[in-house]
Amino acid sequence: MTHAVAADAVELLRRVIAAPAALHEPCFHGNEEQYVSECVRTGWVSSVGKFVDRLEDQLSEYTGARHAVATVNGTAALHVALLLAGVQPGDEVIIPAMTFVATANAVVNCGAVPHFIDIEDRTLGMAASVLRARLSEVTRLHDGTCINQQTNRRVAAIVPMHTFGHPCDIQQLCETASEFGLPVVEDAAESLGSYVDGRHTGTMGCLGVLSFNGNKVMTTGGGGAILTNDESLAVRAKHLTTTGKRPHRWHYEHDCHAFNYRMPNINAALGCAQLEQMDKFLAAKRRLAATYRATFQDAAGVQFFDEPSGCRSNFWLNALRFTTPGSTMRDSFLRESNDAGLMTRPCWTPLNRLPMYDQCPASELPVTQRVFESFVNIPSSVKLAESD
Ligand SMILES: *Cc1c(COP(=O)(O)O)cnc(C)c1O
Repeated sequence: MTHAVAADAVELLRRVIAAPAALHEPCFHGNEEQYVSECVRTGWVSSVGKFVDRLEDQLSEYTGARHAVATVNGTAALHVALLLAGVQPGDEVIIPAMTFVATANAVVNCGAVPHFIDIEDRTLGMAASVLRARLSEVTRLHDGTCINQQTNRRVAAIVPMHTFGHPCDIQQLCETASEFGLPVVEDAAESLGSYVDGRHTGTMGCLGVLSFNGNKVMTTGGGGAILTNDESLAVRAKHLTTTGKRPHRWHYEHDCHAFNYRMPNINAALGCAQLEQMDKFLAAKRRLAATYRATFQDAAGVQFFDEPSGCRSNFWLNALRFTTPGSTMRDSFLRESNDAGLMTRPCWTPLNRLPMYDQCPASELPVTQRVFESFVNIPSSVKLAESD
């Protein structure tokens, strides 16, 4: 069955996007071929090479984080960041219920258990008020350690995430975390180029994480990075992601259980070329968002989701919200838009509803559920706004 609101929304979408379009495609119009060819020509394609160092320096300069450590992907970066934040087997880690599954997987990769908190309508990120209420209700401090009294597990860290590139209420979340003595690891996988009060997302917790997967604002094929202002954490991040090998010209010795999570040089080469174009990418994404905003301004029953006030968003994935309760408009829109060759999709299924995570502790999750039923993502590639 077709609903008028959904049909009209598809019609408006077609006004912006004339030809079939994916949700998010990469754009290689800079030095990508030159840098990647250089790796192939010189043989420096793998775990050693100048592009890794160069990308780390460029990332540090771009984000303002004192240190950046490049990794094979964002999930690996999160895994190591959580370990460095002190997460141990049997701990609980607080994450939003509405996030990509990698956030929860990284927690489980540490042997810990995700604990879900509801999101807020304004940012689509973890709600600071819910976080505070939940921690007050279920945890007690024992000798400075935050214990969930309902599960007897230690709560070890909080991982806010910047949904679709829109900054969450990171300052309030950090404040709440510090009241309970908890470190913050920011999942900024989607928010390269997004700022809160002029500070780059991923630099406000003790550690932050980026992803350069093929569908993110910029890509290295597959890749990620750990950001931190703390030099000793940066040194340990490098050590843990490079098999725990002691740096030495010829000695071949490893001093801890560690991971092969280093970003290969050939991927970093792609990343250096992409990062050079970030200003152009962000300007194009902002133009596309402005077009969507204007197009859906007077639409009935559907709204463009805009950047939260006080923030600068990278508009990684544009989103629409249907105002009718329930999911029928969303589903009708998803069917019709995809039939028309325009790739759209719903939000991630709330993590507490996935089979492997449905027993995890959680706050009440009414906003997560409502957002899941009413939001869709629409085509957001840089190239859709390049021509104007
Ligand atoms: C993309 C993403 C990740 C993980 O990144 P990969 O590079 O794909 O491993 C983690 N968290 C969120 C919220 C993401 O969107």
